[in-house]
Amino acid sequence: MHKSGFVNIIGHPNVGKSTLLNQLMKEKMSIITHKPQTTRHRIFGIYNDDDHQIVFSDTPGLIKKPAYKMQESMNKFAHSSFEDADVLLFMTAPDDEYEEGERVLKMLAETSVPKFLVINKIDKSNQKEVEQLIKYWQSFYEFDMIFPISALENAGVEALFEELKKRLPEGPPFYPKDQISDKSERFFVSEIIRENILKQFKQEIPYSCEVEVESFKHVQTDRKKFVSIRAVIHVSRKSQKSILIGKQGSAIKRLGTESRKGIEKFLQEKVFLELFVKVKENWRDDESMLRSFGYEQ
Ligand code: GDP
Ligand code: MG
Repeated sequence: MHKSGFVNIIGHPNVGKSTLLNQLMKEKMSIITHKPQTTRHRIFGIYNDDDHQIVFSDTPGLIKKPAYKMQESMNKFAHSSFEDADVLLFMTAPDDEYEEGERVLKMLAETSVPKFLVINKIDKSNQKEVEQLIKYWQSFYEFDMIFPISALENAGVEALFEELKKRLPEGPPFYPKDQISDKSERFFVSEIIRENILKQFKQEIPYSCEVEVESFKHVQTDRKKFVSIRAVIHVSRKSQKSILIGKQGSAIKRLGTESRKGIEKFLQEKVFLELFVKVKENWRDDESMLRSFGYEQ
């Protein structure tokens, strides 16, 4: 009998949600960086084998104090994933801290969805610390199961995975079995470019910069077949635009080359990529911009 269901991973930025998801998917699905809040969308990875389909969501970080409209929207995304799941993974780590009154804590108490406590990064702490952490969380909530794991070292992950499979309800797959993600290719393209911006420019360009894929076309001629992509990088200051472009365009050229390689690998097709940089003041507080980027549902 086939089983299928939804698993939502909830937790602060940096606790290792994407790392776990990637281990579970055995394939690089979402973007991992050392900077918090790079996973801003609700990405679904879909695991398939002959008898199971698990739809995972890698939730945006639950941010403590929204500073901008954008972060408020991100929080809305994060909270909506408490519903409609067959299993909720609450993920934390020894260096992860919660403030009293954080909404996620209240929602954990109220949800009727079965919840697993996942203590990640146990490779960085001793057994006593892990036991204390488990006791601490158990004093607040009744978890259905508890898994100390190291997503990075792939320890404890298999046991968690097996338990998730067991918990799935019987039913047909929700998505075609050869589909690994229901997010559009455009989204992954923008994420690949953004990851390359973070890599190339480090602190100079903040994670708040946004990449918009303006056009995405499959082109086929007698002699050539490729994908033509035009993307705009929106930044909030002129100085950031100069940094992105670099001396005589050297920086953006390098960014374009690296991004193109990543996109070609992802799409398994030749790519022609054009990058543009636009300055938009205060775009983070502009509702219509936010909607067009998909932060508002
Ligand atoms: P997310 O923001 O919750 O998606 O977290 P990421 O998966 O992006 O991980 C944040 C950072 O923690 C990255 O530098 C990971 O390499 C690191 N990390 C994730 N899992 C582990 C783990 O099990 N052990 C250790 N030591 N580091 C981890
Ligand atoms: Mg992440």
